[in-house]
Amino acid sequence: MTTTHRFDTLAVHAGYEPDPATGAVMPPIHLATTFAQQGPGVHRGFEYARTDNPTRRLLERCLADLEGARFGLCFSSGCAALATVLHTLGPGDHVVCGDDVYGGTHRLLRRVMEPLGVGADFVDLTEPRRLREAMTPRTKMVWIESPTNPLLKVLDIAALAEIAHAAGARLGVDNTFATPALQRPLELGADLVLHSTTKYLNGHSDVVGGFVATNDEALAERLRFLQNAIGAVPSPFDCFLVLRGVRTLPVRMRRHCESATQLALWLAAHPAVERVHYPGLPSHPGHALACRQMRAPGGMISFVVRGGLPAARALLESTRLFTCAESLGGVESLIESPPLMTHGSIPAAERERVGIVDGLVRVSVGLEDVDDLRDDLAHALEVTSRGAR
Ligand SMILES: *Cc1c(COP(=O)(O)O)cnc(C)c1O
Repeated sequence: MTTTHRFDTLAVHAGYEPDPATGAVMPPIHLATTFAQQGPGVHRGFEYARTDNPTRRLLERCLADLEGARFGLCFSSGCAALATVLHTLGPGDHVVCGDDVYGGTHRLLRRVMEPLGVGADFVDLTEPRRLREAMTPRTKMVWIESPTNPLLKVLDIAALAEIAHAAGARLGVDNTFATPALQRPLELGADLVLHSTTKYLNGHSDVVGGFVATNDEALAERLRFLQNAIGAVPSPFDCFLVLRGVRTLPVRMRRHCESATQLALWLAAHPAVERVHYPGLPSHPGHALACRQMRAPGGMISFVVRGGLPAARALLESTRLFTCAESLGGVESLIESPPLMTHGSIPAAERERVGIVDGLVRVSVGLEDVDDLRDDLAHALEVTSRGAR
């Protein structure tokens, strides 16, 4: 198995060859916490399972190969991965972060890192020149998502990498929404790529996990040190489940994208819907960039229902197939209200400023029959607009 294979082949084979001892085509789950040493410090590469274990090592190699990275590290959650990355910074350092990011990213920067002396500014980076204006001599890291969450804005990764590098800062990209099946940030110039493997990579809504990849050896070494020192590592069982999930990633992503495109077009023409955010729509301001930077526009849609919070609430209470729940990227379709749920930890004034309006609803389009999904939304929107009349 080499990394020169095409993506769909890598997804099935990366990180693992049939076990030479048994021929098993899927790896064993190594639950051992410690590994025998022939003498102090003399061992076969594993000492203690927080530091490294065989199941995690396979997943780290697999995910790094999918991102086209030299180094990969797994964590117990996406937030743990980000917290560990942010610990490469110290007092006096500064982060420029996209203004439309995962709520937990905002919370980590504002409420965990800021008290430790790491400053952060949240900036709309859809215009790359805004980054140049936001950089300070202390800026060490630029952190973005693309497409963004929940507004599905598309950011120019290559242009932002160039500006960050010119000022001596690193660019980190949270690639959770796109996955490496659709977008590979390191190839576009990013220094770090992060995932909540909880979402599309595992894909079955039964693991919480995180991942970071980089080509920078010194950075990888520092992250490896922090991964062990902080210890926010995933269990071998969870690593196995993510590895299993990744095998079908390309197939799942194709279906997510096809169904989301159909639903976005349909929603955009619906009278109860004020606005649809989906990079696959030709009317989306980031559509051309998405076509250049991504293989397909992804499985996430957000839209604004007429009637504000009461309408959004009624919609979430009326769907039958779309489950009202946080999270995304699983086989089942989910629907949520960012202001009430995922982005509730962001102060209302800041939400309003970035465009997370009360009527905003976010859906994760699952793998069900798209006609059933459309019928479900049609019925729920009918109930919602009846309530508003
Ligand atoms: C869910 C999510 C995270 C956080 O990951 P956890 O696994 O829940 O800790 C980070 N970024 C994005 C874009 C996410 O969707």
